[in-house]
Amino acid sequence: MRVYLDNNATTIVDPQVKNAMDPFFSQYYGNPNSLHSFASDTHIDLNTGLEKIYAGIHASKEDSIVITSCATESNNWVIKSIYFEYILSGRKDHIIVSEVEHPSIIATAKFMESLGVKVTYLPINSEGLITLQDLKNSITEKTALVSIMWANNETGAIFPVEEIGAYCKQKGVLFHTDAVQAIGKIKINMQALDIDYLTFSAHKFHGPKGVGALFMKKGKELIPLLHGGEHMGGLRSGTLNVPGIIGMGKAMELAVDAIDFDMPDVKELRDHLEDELLKIADTFVVTPREHRTDNTMLISFRGVEGESMLWDLNKAGIGASTGSACASENLDSNPVMEAIGAEADLAHTAIRFSLSRFTTKDEIDYTIGVVNEAVKRLRGISSSYAYTPKNHKSEL
Ligand code: PLP
Repeated sequence: MRVYLDNNATTIVDPQVKNAMDPFFSQYYGNPNSLHSFASDTHIDLNTGLEKIYAGIHASKEDSIVITSCATESNNWVIKSIYFEYILSGRKDHIIVSEVEHPSIIATAKFMESLGVKVTYLPINSEGLITLQDLKNSITEKTALVSIMWANNETGAIFPVEEIGAYCKQKGVLFHTDAVQAIGKIKINMQALDIDYLTFSAHKFHGPKGVGALFMKKGKELIPLLHGGEHMGGLRSGTLNVPGIIGMGKAMELAVDAIDFDMPDVKELRDHLEDELLKIADTFVVTPREHRTDNTMLISFRGVEGESMLWDLNKAGIGASTGSACASENLDSNPVMEAIGAEADLAHTAIRFSLSRFTTKDEIDYTIGVVNEAVKRLRGISSSYAYTPKNHKSEL
Protein backbone atom coordinates (compact mmCIF):
# COMPACT_ATOMS: atom_id res chain seq x y z
CA MET A 1 0.00 0.00 0.00
CA ARG A 2 1.23 3.56 -0.71
CA VAL A 3 0.00 6.26 1.64
CA TYR A 4 0.61 9.96 1.14
CA LEU A 5 0.59 11.85 4.45
CA ASP A 6 2.73 14.81 3.47
CA ASN A 7 0.01 17.14 2.25
CA ASN A 8 1.52 20.21 3.90
CA ALA A 9 4.47 19.77 1.51
CA THR A 10 2.30 19.45 -1.56
CA THR A 11 -0.97 17.83 -2.62
CA ILE A 12 -2.25 15.66 -5.43
CA VAL A 13 -3.86 17.71 -8.20
CA ASP A 14 -7.62 17.15 -8.00
CA PRO A 15 -8.78 15.43 -11.24
CA GLN A 16 -11.38 18.20 -11.69
CA VAL A 17 -8.57 20.76 -11.60
CA LYS A 18 -6.58 18.81 -14.16
CA ASN A 19 -9.64 18.58 -16.44
CA ALA A 20 -10.19 22.33 -16.17
CA MET A 21 -6.57 23.01 -17.12
CA ASP A 22 -6.14 20.43 -19.91
CA PRO A 23 -7.58 22.40 -22.88
CA PHE A 24 -5.27 25.31 -22.15
CA PHE A 25 -2.06 23.44 -23.00
CA SER A 26 -2.62 22.39 -26.60
CA GLN A 27 -6.07 23.61 -27.64
CA TYR A 28 -6.42 27.14 -26.30
CA TYR A 29 -2.76 28.04 -26.03
CA GLY A 30 -2.84 31.65 -27.21
CA ASN A 31 -1.15 34.42 -25.29
CA PRO A 32 -4.09 36.25 -23.69
CA ASN A 33 -2.45 39.60 -24.43
CA SER A 34 -2.28 39.03 -28.18
CA LEU A 35 -4.76 40.61 -30.58
CA HIS A 36 -6.41 37.65 -32.26
CA SER A 37 -8.92 34.92 -31.53
CA PHE A 38 -6.27 32.51 -30.20
CA ALA A 39 -5.88 35.03 -27.42
CA SER A 40 -9.55 35.78 -26.88
CA ASP A 41 -10.25 32.02 -26.75
CA THR A 42 -8.63 32.08 -23.31
CA HIS A 43 -10.33 35.15 -21.90
CA ILE A 44 -13.59 33.78 -20.51
CA ASP A 45 -11.94 30.91 -18.64
CA LEU A 46 -9.09 33.07 -17.46
CA ASN A 47 -11.52 35.58 -16.01
CA THR A 48 -13.59 32.82 -14.45
CA GLY A 49 -10.42 31.44 -12.86
CA LEU A 50 -9.52 34.83 -11.44
CA GLU A 51 -13.07 35.40 -10.20
CA LYS A 52 -12.97 32.08 -8.36
CA ILE A 53 -9.71 33.08 -6.70
CA TYR A 54 -11.19 36.40 -5.56
CA ALA A 55 -14.39 34.68 -4.39
CA GLY A 56 -12.48 32.00 -2.47
CA ILE A 57 -11.00 34.55 -0.07
CA HIS A 58 -13.85 37.07 -0.34
CA ALA A 59 -11.62 39.74 -1.82
CA SER A 60 -13.45 42.79 -3.15
CA LYS A 61 -13.13 44.01 -6.75
CA GLU A 62 -11.04 46.93 -5.53
CA ASP A 63 -8.49 44.63 -3.90
CA SER A 64 -5.72 43.19 -6.07
CA ILE A 65 -4.66 39.59 -6.36
CA VAL A 66 -1.39 39.38 -8.25
CA ILE A 67 -0.57 35.96 -9.65
CA THR A 68 2.96 34.77 -8.87
CA SER A 69 4.86 31.53 -9.40
CA CYS A 70 4.68 30.32 -5.79
CA ALA A 71 4.28 31.41 -2.19
CA THR A 72 8.03 31.79 -1.83
CA GLU A 73 7.91 34.50 -4.47
CA SER A 74 4.93 36.24 -2.84
CA ASN A 75 6.60 36.19 0.58
CA ASN A 76 9.89 37.54 -0.77
CA TRP A 77 8.10 40.19 -2.76
CA VAL A 78 6.07 41.70 0.04
CA ILE A 79 9.04 42.05 2.38
CA LYS A 80 11.37 43.42 -0.30
CA SER A 81 8.69 45.82 -1.45
CA ILE A 82 8.28 47.17 2.08
CA TYR A 83 12.04 47.57 2.24
CA PHE A 84 12.12 49.70 -0.92
CA GLU A 85 9.10 51.75 0.02
CA TYR A 86 9.42 52.36 3.75
CA ILE A 87 12.88 51.43 4.94
CA LEU A 88 15.25 52.57 2.22
CA SER A 89 13.56 55.97 2.37
CA GLY A 90 14.33 56.14 6.12
CA ARG A 91 10.66 56.35 7.14
CA LYS A 92 10.81 53.08 9.11
CA ASP A 93 13.52 50.62 10.11
CA HIS A 94 11.89 47.57 11.67
CA ILE A 95 9.91 44.47 10.72
CA ILE A 96 8.43 41.69 12.86
CA VAL A 97 8.09 38.03 11.90
CA SER A 98 7.48 34.93 14.02
CA GLU A 99 10.42 32.61 14.54
CA VAL A 100 8.49 29.74 12.97
CA GLU A 101 7.68 31.36 9.64
CA HIS A 102 8.44 29.38 6.50
CA PRO A 103 12.07 29.74 5.30
CA SER A 104 10.87 32.03 2.51
CA ILE A 105 10.06 34.60 5.22
CA ILE A 106 12.89 33.82 7.65
CA ALA A 107 15.61 33.86 4.97
CA THR A 108 14.23 37.09 3.51
CA ALA A 109 14.14 38.65 6.98
CA LYS A 110 17.77 37.63 7.51
CA PHE A 111 18.65 39.21 4.18
CA MET A 112 16.90 42.37 5.37
CA GLU A 113 19.05 42.30 8.51
CA SER A 114 22.15 42.18 6.30
CA LEU A 115 20.87 45.42 4.74
CA GLY A 116 20.54 47.07 8.15
CA VAL A 117 16.86 46.43 8.86
CA LYS A 118 15.96 45.66 12.48
CA VAL A 119 14.07 42.37 12.67
CA THR A 120 12.17 40.96 15.65
CA TYR A 121 11.60 37.21 15.59
CA LEU A 122 8.55 36.63 17.80
CA PRO A 123 8.88 33.52 19.95
CA ILE A 124 6.31 30.74 20.26
CA ASN A 125 5.31 29.14 23.55
CA SER A 126 5.56 25.45 24.48
CA GLU A 127 2.31 24.79 22.61
CA GLY A 128 3.70 26.26 19.41
CA LEU A 129 1.55 29.41 19.65
CA ILE A 130 2.47 33.09 19.61
CA THR A 131 0.90 35.54 22.03
CA LEU A 132 -0.65 38.83 21.06
CA GLN A 133 1.04 40.46 24.03
CA ASP A 134 4.50 39.59 22.69
CA LEU A 135 3.56 41.21 19.42
CA LYS A 136 2.20 44.31 21.14
CA ASN A 137 5.43 44.62 23.11
CA SER A 138 7.50 44.43 19.93
CA ILE A 139 5.76 47.05 17.78
CA THR A 140 7.44 50.46 17.74
CA GLU A 141 6.69 53.63 15.81
CA LYS A 142 9.44 52.55 13.39
CA THR A 143 7.81 49.20 12.59
CA ALA A 144 6.95 48.99 8.90
CA LEU A 145 5.59 45.46 8.63
CA VAL A 146 4.37 42.54 10.69
CA SER A 147 4.44 39.20 8.85
CA ILE A 148 2.89 36.34 10.79
CA MET A 149 1.63 33.19 9.14
CA TRP A 150 -2.02 32.16 9.45
CA ALA A 151 -1.30 28.49 10.12
CA ASN A 152 2.05 26.87 10.76
CA ASN A 153 3.18 24.26 8.26
CA GLU A 154 4.77 21.98 10.87
CA THR A 155 2.30 21.91 13.76
CA GLY A 156 -0.81 23.28 12.07
CA ALA A 157 -0.92 25.91 14.87
CA ILE A 158 -3.35 28.70 13.98
CA PHE A 159 -2.14 32.19 14.82
CA PRO A 160 -4.56 35.00 15.80
CA VAL A 161 -4.46 36.92 12.52
CA GLU A 162 -7.75 38.71 13.16
CA GLU A 163 -6.48 40.29 16.38
CA ILE A 164 -3.01 40.91 14.95
CA GLY A 165 -4.50 42.69 11.94
CA ALA A 166 -6.75 44.87 14.10
CA TYR A 167 -3.84 45.85 16.35
CA CYS A 168 -1.53 46.59 13.41
CA LYS A 169 -4.19 48.78 11.85
CA GLN A 170 -4.57 50.70 15.10
CA LYS A 171 -0.81 51.24 15.18
CA GLY A 172 -0.49 52.15 11.50
CA VAL A 173 1.65 49.08 10.75
CA LEU A 174 1.20 47.00 7.61
CA PHE A 175 0.22 43.37 8.15
CA HIS A 176 1.06 40.44 5.88
CA THR A 177 0.05 36.84 6.50
CA ASP A 178 1.30 33.70 4.80
CA ALA A 179 -1.97 31.79 4.37
CA VAL A 180 -0.45 28.86 2.48
CA GLN A 181 -1.59 26.32 5.07
CA ALA A 182 -4.92 28.04 5.75
CA ILE A 183 -6.59 27.87 2.33
CA GLY A 184 -9.12 25.05 2.25
CA LYS A 185 -8.91 24.60 6.02
CA ILE A 186 -10.05 27.94 7.41
CA LYS A 187 -12.76 30.20 5.95
CA ILE A 188 -11.18 33.44 4.80
CA ASN A 189 -13.05 36.68 4.39
CA MET A 190 -10.62 39.42 3.39
CA GLN A 191 -13.33 42.06 3.55
CA ALA A 192 -13.89 41.38 7.22
CA LEU A 193 -10.24 41.34 8.22
CA ASP A 194 -7.51 43.96 8.56
CA ILE A 195 -4.98 42.07 6.47
CA ASP A 196 -3.05 44.18 3.98
CA TYR A 197 -1.20 41.40 2.17
CA LEU A 198 -1.87 37.67 1.99
CA THR A 199 0.10 34.86 0.33
CA PHE A 200 -1.10 31.51 -0.99
CA SER A 201 0.00 28.77 -3.37
CA ALA A 202 -2.14 26.44 -5.53
CA HIS A 203 -0.18 23.25 -5.02
CA LYS A 204 -1.02 23.24 -1.31
CA PHE A 205 -4.75 22.91 -2.03
CA HIS A 206 -4.89 20.35 -4.85
CA GLY A 207 -3.97 22.79 -7.59
CA PRO A 208 -0.93 22.79 -9.87
CA LYS A 209 2.63 23.61 -8.86
CA GLY A 210 4.18 26.81 -10.17
CA VAL A 211 1.32 29.18 -9.46
CA GLY A 212 0.65 31.24 -6.34
CA ALA A 213 -0.66 34.67 -5.47
CA LEU A 214 -0.19 37.79 -3.42
CA PHE A 215 -3.36 39.56 -2.29
CA MET A 216 -3.07 43.29 -1.67
CA LYS A 217 -5.85 45.27 0.00
CA LYS A 218 -7.35 48.24 -1.81
CA GLY A 219 -5.22 51.33 -1.29
CA LYS A 220 -2.03 49.43 -0.42
CA GLU A 221 1.02 49.35 -2.64
CA LEU A 222 3.67 47.03 -3.98
CA ILE A 223 6.87 47.93 -5.79
CA PRO A 224 6.78 46.15 -9.19
CA LEU A 225 8.58 42.82 -8.95
CA LEU A 226 9.22 42.10 -12.62
CA HIS A 227 9.45 45.02 -15.02
CA GLY A 228 8.85 44.60 -18.71
CA GLY A 229 5.17 44.71 -19.56
CA GLU A 230 1.68 45.53 -18.44
CA HIS A 231 0.82 42.12 -17.00
CA MET A 232 -0.75 42.13 -13.55
CA GLY A 233 -1.16 45.88 -13.66
CA GLY A 234 2.54 46.30 -14.41
CA LEU A 235 3.44 44.80 -11.04
CA ARG A 236 4.63 41.43 -12.27
CA SER A 237 5.32 41.24 -15.95
CA GLY A 238 5.57 38.00 -17.86
CA THR A 239 3.15 36.07 -20.03
CA LEU A 240 0.26 34.84 -17.93
CA ASN A 241 0.27 31.22 -16.77
CA VAL A 242 -3.16 30.54 -18.26
CA PRO A 243 -3.55 26.87 -17.28
CA GLY A 244 -2.09 27.65 -13.86
CA ILE A 245 -4.52 30.47 -13.15
CA ILE A 246 -7.49 28.43 -14.36
CA GLY A 247 -6.27 25.49 -12.28
CA MET A 248 -5.78 27.62 -9.18
CA GLY A 249 -9.29 29.05 -9.61
CA LYS A 250 -10.86 25.60 -9.82
CA ALA A 251 -8.72 24.33 -6.93
CA MET A 252 -9.75 27.32 -4.81
CA GLU A 253 -13.43 26.72 -5.50
CA LEU A 254 -13.13 23.05 -4.53
CA ALA A 255 -10.97 23.80 -1.48
CA VAL A 256 -13.46 26.30 -0.09
CA ASP A 257 -16.35 23.84 -0.59
CA ALA A 258 -14.27 21.17 1.11
CA ILE A 259 -14.06 23.15 4.34
CA ASP A 260 -17.69 22.26 5.08
CA PHE A 261 -17.98 19.00 3.22
CA ASP A 262 -14.64 17.18 3.53
CA MET A 263 -12.63 18.70 6.36
CA PRO A 264 -14.85 17.20 9.10
CA ASP A 265 -13.96 13.74 7.73
CA VAL A 266 -10.28 14.69 7.45
CA LYS A 267 -10.35 15.82 11.07
CA GLU A 268 -11.96 12.55 12.15
CA LEU A 269 -9.20 10.58 10.43
CA ARG A 270 -6.46 12.81 11.83
CA ASP A 271 -7.92 12.52 15.33
CA HIS A 272 -8.17 8.74 14.99
CA LEU A 273 -4.52 8.53 13.90
CA GLU A 274 -3.49 10.80 16.76
CA ASP A 275 -5.55 8.98 19.41
CA GLU A 276 -4.06 5.66 18.37
CA LEU A 277 -0.47 6.90 18.18
CA LEU A 278 -0.73 8.64 21.55
CA LYS A 279 -1.39 5.22 23.09
CA ILE A 280 2.30 4.50 22.46
CA ALA A 281 4.27 5.33 25.63
CA ASP A 282 6.50 8.41 25.66
CA THR A 283 4.73 10.08 22.78
CA PHE A 284 3.33 13.58 22.53
CA VAL A 285 1.86 16.09 20.09
CA VAL A 286 2.93 19.73 20.15
CA THR A 287 -0.12 21.97 19.65
CA PRO A 288 -3.57 21.28 21.20
CA ARG A 289 -6.15 20.22 18.63
CA GLU A 290 -8.41 23.21 19.17
CA HIS A 291 -5.59 25.53 18.05
CA ARG A 292 -4.63 23.52 14.98
CA THR A 293 -5.67 22.99 11.38
CA ASP A 294 -7.71 19.80 11.06
CA ASN A 295 -5.31 17.90 8.81
CA THR A 296 -2.01 18.25 10.68
CA MET A 297 -0.15 16.59 13.55
CA LEU A 298 3.45 16.99 14.67
CA ILE A 299 4.20 14.04 16.92
CA SER A 300 7.30 12.95 18.82
CA PHE A 301 8.23 9.43 19.89
CA ARG A 302 10.96 9.69 22.50
CA GLY A 303 14.07 7.77 21.49
CA VAL A 304 13.07 7.52 17.82
CA GLU A 305 15.13 9.62 15.40
CA GLY A 306 12.77 11.33 12.97
CA GLU A 307 14.87 10.35 9.97
CA SER A 308 14.95 6.70 11.03
CA MET A 309 11.19 6.74 11.41
CA LEU A 310 10.82 8.27 7.94
CA TRP A 311 13.02 5.48 6.59
CA ASP A 312 10.81 2.78 8.09
CA LEU A 313 7.66 4.58 6.93
CA ASN A 314 9.02 5.01 3.44
CA LYS A 315 9.94 1.33 3.24
CA ALA A 316 6.32 0.56 4.06
CA GLY A 317 5.13 2.97 1.34
CA ILE A 318 4.16 5.85 3.64
CA GLY A 319 5.25 9.42 2.91
CA ALA A 320 5.48 11.79 5.91
CA SER A 321 7.95 14.50 6.96
CA THR A 322 10.36 15.53 9.70
CA GLY A 323 10.50 19.21 8.86
CA SER A 324 9.76 21.78 6.21
CA ALA A 325 9.51 20.23 2.75
CA CYS A 326 12.20 22.53 1.48
CA ALA A 327 14.58 21.26 4.17
CA SER A 328 14.03 17.56 3.71
CA GLU A 329 17.69 16.90 2.97
CA ASN A 330 18.72 18.87 6.01
CA LEU A 331 19.26 16.77 9.12
CA ASP A 332 18.88 19.65 11.56
CA SER A 333 16.12 19.17 14.08
CA ASN A 334 12.64 20.40 13.30
CA PRO A 335 12.64 24.24 13.61
CA VAL A 336 9.41 24.28 15.59
CA MET A 337 10.74 21.75 18.07
CA GLU A 338 13.74 24.00 18.58
CA ALA A 339 11.54 27.08 18.92
CA ILE A 340 9.38 25.51 21.64
CA GLY A 341 12.57 24.70 23.52
CA ALA A 342 12.21 20.91 23.34
CA GLU A 343 15.04 18.98 24.99
CA ALA A 344 17.74 17.77 22.60
CA ASP A 345 16.59 14.15 22.70
CA LEU A 346 13.10 15.18 21.64
CA ALA A 347 13.97 17.87 19.13
CA HIS A 348 15.09 15.24 16.60
CA THR A 349 12.11 12.95 17.01
CA ALA A 350 9.30 14.96 15.42
CA ILE A 351 7.27 13.48 12.59
CA ARG A 352 4.63 15.46 10.74
CA PHE A 353 1.59 13.69 9.36
CA SER A 354 -0.56 15.89 7.14
CA LEU A 355 -3.75 14.49 5.62
CA SER A 356 -6.00 15.64 2.80
CA ARG A 357 -9.52 15.06 1.55
CA PHE A 358 -8.08 12.17 -0.49
CA THR A 359 -6.83 10.30 2.62
CA THR A 360 -8.81 7.13 3.45
CA LYS A 361 -9.57 5.22 6.66
CA ASP A 362 -7.74 2.14 5.31
CA GLU A 363 -4.63 4.23 4.78
CA ILE A 364 -4.79 5.59 8.33
CA ASP A 365 -5.33 2.14 9.85
CA TYR A 366 -2.39 0.80 7.85
CA THR A 367 -0.24 3.74 9.03
CA ILE A 368 -1.13 3.12 12.68
CA GLY A 369 0.13 -0.47 12.36
CA VAL A 370 3.35 0.54 10.58
CA VAL A 371 4.17 3.31 13.09
CA ASN A 372 3.65 0.96 16.04
CA GLU A 373 6.03 -1.56 14.52
CA ALA A 374 8.59 1.14 13.63
CA VAL A 375 8.58 2.63 17.15
CA LYS A 376 9.09 -0.85 18.65
CA ARG A 377 11.94 -1.64 16.26
CA LEU A 378 13.71 1.72 16.54
CA ARG A 379 13.44 1.94 20.32
CA GLY A 380 14.77 -1.60 20.49
CA ILE A 381 18.01 -0.59 18.76
CA SER A 382 18.26 2.89 20.32
CA SER A 383 21.26 3.36 22.60
CA SER A 384 19.68 6.34 24.35
CA TYR A 385 16.13 5.10 24.91
CA ALA A 386 15.26 3.27 28.08
CA TYR A 387 11.59 2.53 28.63
CA THR A 388 10.61 4.96 31.39
CA PRO A 389 7.24 6.58 30.70
CA LYS A 390 7.10 10.09 32.11
CA ASN A 391 4.89 13.10 32.02
CA HIS A 392 6.57 14.63 29.02
CA LYS A 393 4.34 17.62 28.59
CA SER A 394 5.66 19.08 31.83
CA GLU A 395 9.23 18.47 30.67
CA LEU A 396 8.98 20.63 27.60
N1 PLP B 1 4.71 29.17 3.26
C1 PLP B 1 4.35 28.05 3.92
C2 PLP B 1 3.66 28.17 5.25
C3 PLP B 1 4.61 26.80 3.36
O1 PLP B 1 4.24 25.69 4.01
C4 PLP B 1 5.27 26.72 2.11
C5 PLP B 1 5.64 25.41 1.53
O2 PLP B 1 5.97 24.46 2.24
C6 PLP B 1 5.62 27.92 1.47
C7 PLP B 1 5.32 29.12 2.08
C8 PLP B 1 6.28 27.92 0.14
O3 PLP B 1 5.36 27.57 -0.86
P1 PLP B 1 5.78 27.44 -2.39
O4 PLP B 1 6.20 26.04 -2.57
O5 PLP B 1 4.55 27.76 -3.16
O6 PLP B 1 6.87 28.42 -2.62
